[in-house]
Order: sequence, then C-alpha cells, then structure tokens
Amino acid sequence: MQRLKEKIKKEGSVQGNNILKVDNFLNHQVDVSFLNEIGREFARRFQDAGISKILTIEASGIAVAAITAQYFKVPVVFAKKTESKNLDQNVYQSEVFSFTKDKTYQIMVSSKYLDKKERILIIDDFLANGRAALGLKEIVEQAGADLVGIGIVIEKGFQPGGKILREAGIRVESLAIIKTMSEGEIVFEE
Ligand code: 5GP
Repeated sequence: MQRLKEKIKKEGSVQGNNILKVDNFLNHQVDVSFLNEIGREFARRFQDAGISKILTIEASGIAVAAITAQYFKVPVVFAKKTESKNLDQNVYQSEVFSFTKDKTYQIMVSSKYLDKKERILIIDDFLANGRAALGLKEIVEQAGADLVGIGIVIEKGFQPGGKILREAGIRVESLAIIKTMSEGEIVFEE
C-alpha cells in the first residue's frame, strides 16, 4: 500500500535496531481518515473470505480492527492482557511474549464472544516475531473456530513472524513489509 509506505517514511522513526515508532498516526495519535484507507484495503483483500468476526489484541490493535470491521459489518473482539492465568472455564487463553516490553503475559477472550461456527480475521498493527499472532491463533483454535487470515498493517520482514505464520499455512496480508531499517532509512519489500 503505497500511501502507507510514504507515511511510514515521512512520519515514522526507528528506535534502536528493531522498533519502529509510528505514534503520529497509529500507536498514540490516531489518524482516523488514514485508518479508513487501511480498513478499506483489508476489506478489499479479504472481501470474499466470509469473515464473521475480527479478533485483535489490546491496546494498539483495537483502533485499526474497529475501523476495518465497519467495512465487513462484523463485530470486533479484542483479547485482554492479564498478569496471571485465569482459572475460569469460560475463557480461552494463551501466553504471549511481548517483543516491545520484553515480558510474558496472558491473553484471554471470554468464550461468550467466540463460537466454533465463526470465521475469524486477526488484525494487528505490527508483525515482528509473530508471538501475538500465534497467541491469537491459539485462542481461535481453542474456540474451534476457523482462522481465515491475518491482516497486518506493518510487517517487519527481517524478523521471523511472517515466515513462521506463512509456513504454518496461514494467509498473511501485510500492507507494508519492511525489508531493512535503520535511523534515517527504511527500505520496503516490493
Ligand atoms: P510480535 O508478537 O509479532 O513479536 O510483535 C507484535 C506486537 O508487538 C504488536 O502487537 C505490536 O504492538 C508490537 N510491536 C512489535 N514490533 C513493533 C514495532 O516495531 N513498533 C511498534 N510500535 N510496535 C511493535
């Protein structure tokens, strides 16, 4: 998605060797009209997939998932992060190691909001090592629902998440894939 690549180049900043900050439009301030374009692009790519629900993870996935959901006219469920395991039988849960926070946390979704008849699209802002996406995939599996695909705004192609997910047979659609990045230069895959 050309407009996204331009926006990342213009407004993004690289921190350390691996973190891209796009706080100006995605992760802190939210550019709603631009997110509408992102939502429309996900809708175009997954229009024939028969999606019944979008699943994401709090907090940064929620804005993009909610805007995307308007195009599909389906609800959004976001997995909640918790410190400890929930012993409640009525939740699906899994464990995620956070790349940006360098710690492991539990994620959970109430079983009320995911049904085995559901066709799920996972949406997230970034794909790095794939831990968040794999945790969400596990929750979809616990519900017995179908994972139709994963829509990512920015994939860091030099980290292994995309490869792991695609090799597992999952359809991953990333709107911008970064090949390499350093302070002052961000190079995208075609
Ligand atoms: P993964 O689980 O694939 O390793 O990392 C994806 C999650 O970590 C995303 O939900 C996102 O919130 C966060 N993340 C990973 N890399 C970056 C990054 O470079 N910039 C920002 N802003 N978030 C990231």
